[in-house]
Amino acid sequence: MDKKTVWKHDGFDKEKMFDFCEDYKTFLSECKTERECVSRIEQELKNVGALELSEAAEKKAVPAPGDIVYADMMGKALLIFRAGKRPVTDGVRLLGAHIDSPRLDLKQNPLYEDSSLAYLDTHYYGGIKKYQWVALPLALHGVVVKKDGSIIDVNIGEKEGDPVFCISDLLPHLGHKQMEKKASEVIEGEALNILIGSEPVSGTDDKACKTGDACATDMDCKADADGKADTDGKADKEAVKANILNILKEKYGIEEEDFISAELEAVPAGGARDLGLDRSMILSYGQDDRVCGYTSYRALMDEKEPEYTSVCLLTDKEEIGSYGATGMQSRFFEDTVAEYMDLCGCFAPLAFRRLLKASHVLSSDVNAAFDPIYPEVFEKNNCSCMGNGPVITKFTGARGKSGSNDANAEYIAFLRRIMDEAGITYQTAELGKVDVGGGGTIAYMLANLGMNVIDFGVPILSMHAPFEAASKADIYETYRAYRAFLVG
Ligand code: MN
Ligand code: MN
Repeated sequence: MDKKTVWKHDGFDKEKMFDFCEDYKTFLSECKTERECVSRIEQELKNVGALELSEAAEKKAVPAPGDIVYADMMGKALLIFRAGKRPVTDGVRLLGAHIDSPRLDLKQNPLYEDSSLAYLDTHYYGGIKKYQWVALPLALHGVVVKKDGSIIDVNIGEKEGDPVFCISDLLPHLGHKQMEKKASEVIEGEALNILIGSEPVSGTDDKACKTGDACATDMDCKADADGKADTDGKADKEAVKANILNILKEKYGIEEEDFISAELEAVPAGGARDLGLDRSMILSYGQDDRVCGYTSYRALMDEKEPEYTSVCLLTDKEEIGSYGATGMQSRFFEDTVAEYMDLCGCFAPLAFRRLLKASHVLSSDVNAAFDPIYPEVFEKNNCSCMGNGPVITKFTGARGKSGSNDANAEYIAFLRRIMDEAGITYQTAELGKVDVGGGGTIAYMLANLGMNVIDFGVPILSMHAPFEAASKADIYETYRAYRAFLVG
């Protein structure tokens, strides 16, 4: 089969594509955590007069065709409904994406001092190549929840003039032994310690290292001001940490114990940027899977009169197996659909099951774009290419399709018709060569409910790297495809 490119497609509107991608870049730059995605989208929903589900229930505001109702789960997952012309019991058109991305989470007791440097200790989240996360500017995003329940929002390292953070790496001069290690061991998980300060607290004596000797690696400097070894313990050693604690208290109202009830995520600092001299691509943190989350959400917002009820699901925890109350394995989706049916006055256990079975789903998630630098892991007839549009992935999984929902041929035929009628350029692929590796998405969990589900999303280069690349043509074409799906 011939491969087609979106760029040369009849009627391809380059100007609209670039405009759409400007908004997408803003979204990526401002939403680097699942919480930030949810709160920004909820704000936009409020702005267009959409009601929160419990609020709608309280007002008995039965959704009329075109009305939007939404519900979130712990501020990290979101389900948005737009009522169709048909009753919801006829089934829904669902776009499901995830809004969590690989990152470095702070440990619950993260702050420590070593050799007069203050660090935050981390535990990585999701599948990362650890060596990619050193020696680059990092920002801190998240929340600190005080014992009284008040929430301090943290966002440091993004604004012009903000400080940034970083994990140091060994200089090549002294890195000979390190460079002989396997890539998975070059940087160990416990070495992902973020440097956050070096100035000792003011008002104490000069405790600078005066031993006259070079400090040994991984050893606290134990010198006192008089140059003799410190025998009276910790007091002098933690002056840098003490200074950081002072700053945390003064600027943010955070005490050291508050880290226990915090969720702080270290992510690459800086916004999304155009990639390439022709500005044809976007380079950014978190495109897996916010590229599909954003395009799914926008498709629901822009198709204002769907025949079937449109639903956009933005879920959390996909990168760690979809566990937890905010992940796809939770009851959030089913419970909220049941609540929505109740709002519409049509909830009954059997009607609920029939609704699910009558529904069509795109699991909006990314696939790996063919990378000419690493052709050996791809099979060229069944891989996705940058610029050839959204990828339909019939099955994911590993080895003999293990762990995959493996979508129905009838459903794929249905989608082919919709895409062709809407003039969408799309491609089909699987994730790499047989037996080279594998992966999964939320598709199989939605399929477990009896719905027709297939993976459908944007091809990505450098997936799970601190900065991932996507083609603007693919992003815009995916958005158009999602719109076509909702009304097709
Ligand atoms: Mn994904
Ligand atoms: Mn992923």
